[in-house]
Amino acid sequence: RQGTCIVTGASSGLGLATAKALAETGKWHIIMACRNFLKAERAAKSAGIAKENYTIMHLDLASLDSVRQFVDTFRRSGRPLDVLVCNAAVYLPTAKEPAFTAEGFELSVGTNHLGHFLLSRLLLEDMKKSDYPSKRLIIVGSITGNTNTLAGNVPPKANLGDLRGLSGGLNGLNRPAMIDGGVFDGAKAYKDSKVCNMLTMQEFHRRLHEETGIAFASLYPGCIATTGLFREHIPLFRLLFPPFQKYITKGFVTEDEAGKRPAQVVSDPSLTKSGVYWSWNKHSASFQNQLSQEASDAEKARKVCEISEKLVGLA
Ligand code: NDP
Repeated sequence: RQGTCIVTGASSGLGLATAKALAETGKWHIIMACRNFLKAERAAKSAGIAKENYTIMHLDLASLDSVRQFVDTFRRSGRPLDVLVCNAAVYLPTAKEPAFTAEGFELSVGTNHLGHFLLSRLLLEDMKKSDYPSKRLIIVGSITGNTNTLAGNVPPKANLGDLRGLSGGLNGLNRPAMIDGGVFDGAKAYKDSKVCNMLTMQEFHRRLHEETGIAFASLYPGCIATTGLFREHIPLFRLLFPPFQKYITKGFVTEDEAGKRPAQVVSDPSLTKSGVYWSWNKHSASFQNQLSQEASDAEKARKVCEISEKLVGLA
């Protein structure tokens, strides 16, 4: 049978390119989990995704009610769930003040980490029921959260500290709305959220891989300097960042090329390993990459998941 794969944030950039790459194989039905229905419909049409290969379902990761509603809608569709790709993200590098989700969590960590955390935890139950031979849960990480790389060392660096801000509710009421309890910085909040993404996959791997057979992985798709992710950045940055990546760092990858990468982790028979972080070299060959010390800290992973369970109402 055709596999069913949910892709969050499939209305633009990497998520759309991933949906397109998967749909083109004819082996997958894509559930495009998006906050803007019309935008997603237009995006699917302009990418040329065949109508029978996708369904759009509403999901706003910045609202835990919306996450729960999405899961209900998906369940009512009667489809099995074989693969989940957590791709959506916001990046607010120029924000002077924090913005907040419906439940009052700082928006970057609230959307990128907590929304996806609740979504994955709920949908794991559906994945367990699927008879698909190679079930996978994939999250899009980032090099910028990994302080063992050059890009990860550009300040402000990711650092979750002792998690005092996260434990305090990340709401800016009792403490500043940063995971480490520090002063708000939008670029750092994004990087921190990506560290949480990568930690979550490893914790799920340790807790659930043996029991469920599901492969848990994170990945870094390369620098796709042209996507909407940089829409909040200053105009000069948006002008110079793509050529900088193309000619100086040579880390640039087009959206179409980048989309093939998560698609590979979804369905390639050679990428079934669980608990790993995938990257691609300049010849587009996949390899198992090394995470930074913080992003592979098992004790921190356990704590982040424990606190997140409380924040999203699971514990
Ligand atoms: P885009 O901004 O193009 O795509 C982000 C997607 O997330 C959009 O579809 C957006 O929806 C969606 N989204 C944002 N907020 C929400 C929300 N509250 N609920 C549901 N969906 C939401 O950026 P990219 O394609 O570049 O980013 C995709 C992933 O790739 C992210 O996880 C990012 O961290 C990662 N990444 C990107 C890199 C790059 O160089 N671009 C490098 C490394 C990682 P809408 O269309 O409605 O705005």
